[in-house]
Amino acid sequence: MKRLFLISTVCALFCLSCAKENSFVDSETFLLKNGKIWTGDDSNPWAKWVLIEDDKIVDIGNDSNYPSANKVLDLEGRLALPGFNDSHVHFASAGSLLLGINLLDVNDDESFVKKVKETTARLPEGSWITRGDWGAYEAWSMGSEGDNRNAQDWQPNRKLIDELTPDHPVLVTKYDRTEGMANALALDYLGIESKDGILKGDILASALRQVPESSFERKLAEAKRALAECAKWGVTTVQDMSPLDRVDIYRYLLERDSLITRINYSPSRLSEIFNMMEDGWVIDWGENPSPAGDDYISFGTIKSHIDGIMGGRTARFYQPYADNSIENFMWRGGWREFSKNMPLFKQLLTQADSGGIQLRVHAIGDEANSILLDILDTLDQVNGPKDRRFRLVHAQVIAPQDFERFAGRNIIAEVQPYHVTDDMRWMEERIGYERCKGAYAFKTLQEAGCQLAFGSDWPGTNASYYPINPLYGLYAAVTRQTVNGMPEEGWFPEQRIDLASAIKAYTQGSAFATFEEDEKGMIKEGMLADIVVVNTDLFETEPAAWLNAEFNYTIMGGKIVYESLN
Ligand SMILES: [Zn+2]
Repeated sequence: MKRLFLISTVCALFCLSCAKENSFVDSETFLLKNGKIWTGDDSNPWAKWVLIEDDKIVDIGNDSNYPSANKVLDLEGRLALPGFNDSHVHFASAGSLLLGINLLDVNDDESFVKKVKETTARLPEGSWITRGDWGAYEAWSMGSEGDNRNAQDWQPNRKLIDELTPDHPVLVTKYDRTEGMANALALDYLGIESKDGILKGDILASALRQVPESSFERKLAEAKRALAECAKWGVTTVQDMSPLDRVDIYRYLLERDSLITRINYSPSRLSEIFNMMEDGWVIDWGENPSPAGDDYISFGTIKSHIDGIMGGRTARFYQPYADNSIENFMWRGGWREFSKNMPLFKQLLTQADSGGIQLRVHAIGDEANSILLDILDTLDQVNGPKDRRFRLVHAQVIAPQDFERFAGRNIIAEVQPYHVTDDMRWMEERIGYERCKGAYAFKTLQEAGCQLAFGSDWPGTNASYYPINPLYGLYAAVTRQTVNGMPEEGWFPEQRIDLASAIKAYTQGSAFATFEEDEKGMIKEGMLADIVVVNTDLFETEPAAWLNAEFNYTIMGGKIVYESLN
């Protein structure tokens, strides 16, 4: 079964061009006029109008001699930018969080009941309501994990919701996944008796395993919800790491002309690709690791992990964590997936690299990042130097001596600036002042010759929500402050970057990361017509104002996919 499934998915990826041609046949011209258009092109940074033919930009100008077009949109002086390209999202999780239940900020009966009511109204009868991660912000005061950890005492009870959920089985979990709560309908299905519905340990684990898999319709509804959110926030491409079965959903939507955000898909585990190869599939991207597929759904990298995360002290550092002297023996942190077996991990990376596959590896701690740079040296030696655009995912803490190793190698720092505003509150306590100098060091990375590719990591973890809204990312990169404007000068302010560089990292930087810099990331003749219009002039306002800014239009491939005139 598994093999058949892979066959259909792989075929789907390589047959997309057929579907595309049918959908976009009529040649149409579309003029955006009277705008303040920031092009991202240093040789021609500002324009007043842009002419689109079908899905491409064919001309831009800075005068008032507007060319004629079938359709005209007056921007009324508003700021237009290239469409945002989010280099790191988990689209399936985001969709399920938007359509399902989000309990991150819930820690009392009233808000719990309210969220359950809202969710039952969204979901058809019979749909399961699962996860939710209740109590995360109560325990951690949103985004914090340091000394202000509170005692967790609120617990849901099925009696609160049994009457509200006669048609929806519910099995929600606490943010740390140590407890779950099931309603009457779910308990019935699971064959468990419990007065309050609280499940723990093996009973919870087995209950979670018994929750039926989502239907195609549910996944489709989740994808639509997530796509609408992207369009609302000016994101015209997402680089997605969802389970492989989601590709079928994207294809289904594309065939119905409803894929309103471009998807660059990457399996989230190295093992998935190797399973495919072991099953006899030849994955061939040709000489360069540019993406397979087409402009709407492309497929180009594989992602793996070399270490864990700092929150759980599983990120790999050279020196112990600053705040766990008792647990010093743990400091090296965990190895994820293949990297637990280093020789095998290296062998697989080398094999994938020689097959023209672009590598994308999660690395948080300074030693983890360093080891990946060593591996990159090995790849140069074994497979020869080439433009491989090795993607360091998170590139979170870099050792001072390693910055010089980035020069001239087209290494991509796939970073999420909003993490700074969230993590800064506890990071210094965890790894100490000195190491923080190399944390989210966007400016130093950029000066070292690294290509920044910004993204959000939407929807975040079971402890924090990371919004898809790229304006939050721009704010974080430019100010290095929390959303409340602290600290006043910014956290390690020498690492702030200017607005234009931040927008570039979120548009052309992300396009460069997928070898698509000739197609996306600028408003320029020949590029795809992915353009967004903001209701606030980012270049003329204080960063705090960007947090409340909204998009008036999102144009993807010459089509308006979102419109709101506020
Ligand atoms: Zn992620």
